[in-house]
Amino acid sequence: MTMRAIVAEQTGGPEVLRLAEIPDPAPRPGELLVQTAAVGVNFIETYQRSGLYAVPLPFTPGAEGAGRVLAVGPGVEGFAEGDLVATAEATATYAERFAVAAERAVRVPEGIGADTAAALPLQGLTAHYLATSAARPEPGDTVLVHAGAGGVGLLLTQLLAARGVRVLTTASTPEKQQLSRSAGASEVLGYDGFADRVREITGGEGVAVAYDGVGKSTFDDSLRALRVRGELVLYGAASGPVPPFDLQRLNAGGSLSVTRPSLGHFLRTPDERVWRYRELFAAIEAGALDIRIGARFPLAEAAAAHRALEGRETTGKVILEP
Ligand code: NDP
Repeated sequence: MTMRAIVAEQTGGPEVLRLAEIPDPAPRPGELLVQTAAVGVNFIETYQRSGLYAVPLPFTPGAEGAGRVLAVGPGVEGFAEGDLVATAEATATYAERFAVAAERAVRVPEGIGADTAAALPLQGLTAHYLATSAARPEPGDTVLVHAGAGGVGLLLTQLLAARGVRVLTTASTPEKQQLSRSAGASEVLGYDGFADRVREITGGEGVAVAYDGVGKSTFDDSLRALRVRGELVLYGAASGPVPPFDLQRLNAGGSLSVTRPSLGHFLRTPDERVWRYRELFAAIEAGALDIRIGARFPLAEAAAAHRALEGRETTGKVILEP
């Protein structure tokens, strides 16, 4: 049997993402075969497509997706055919079907639909570990979240604000600024001069934590926006990778810290994964976490989805529909 999937034969611009017929995956021991209902698009796939992150070619992108279990591989327990499952940790989800290790998938509670299930895992787990583990701002602390209307930004803002953390964000357009405010940001700034604005707002002190997924264009000013002993959590590179820098700047800035975390290091054990998913699902069910799907594209138009994401045209989550 064959299925439709996106295949990149070479790295390059969005145009390298082409629809193709490829063999169906077969579930190996410990795996589930999933009929894709929705695919979550993430920035990392643009880095892989462009060649910034090396991947073997030909390449079908996609780590995130949700759908019904079609078949259960040998040795799998706790899942049955027909279960609605989601994952942030598969490969090749830009396809009508994908296989995933059962331990990296989660059964989605009744009441949370397939779209939300596909939109949540990668950015939701990321927002969760950023808020709870990569740094742990206390209630009453002020933090800065860049790209506040983006996928991670909207979720991170909601999780932090719910904990009593005061969240300042950046966003590039009035519409995005409004959206970020509605997610709980107390002040939404433009990018120009944001470090000075942060100092003004915090009475000269600076923020306890700056969450920076934008990278190259914001990194220097994110450092400047920190309070003494503040932490810069550099978790992405939407504007490009940050060049090497002089560690002495951390001293001059006031005994600052910088960390460069990745989601995989915060899903180290099944218990850690289950804890993060459980808290996210509970927040959704309690109405405390809104998952915004900002754009939907047919699977065949994956290139357009990448263009929109890289072109700063999107808010919240981008999904593909097979
Ligand atoms: P977003 O939905 O946040 O999209 C990126 C946003 O970044 C844009 O909408 C834009 O918002 C802002 N941006 C600023 N400058 C640029 C630029 N030059 N080009 C493109 N966008 C720019 O994406 P995600 O939520 O999916 O991801 C956010 C970041 O988090 C990415 O860097 C991603 O790689 C990273 N990430 C890291 C993870 C980790 O574990 N380390 C896991 C998941 C994501 P605006 O127009 O308002 O500026």
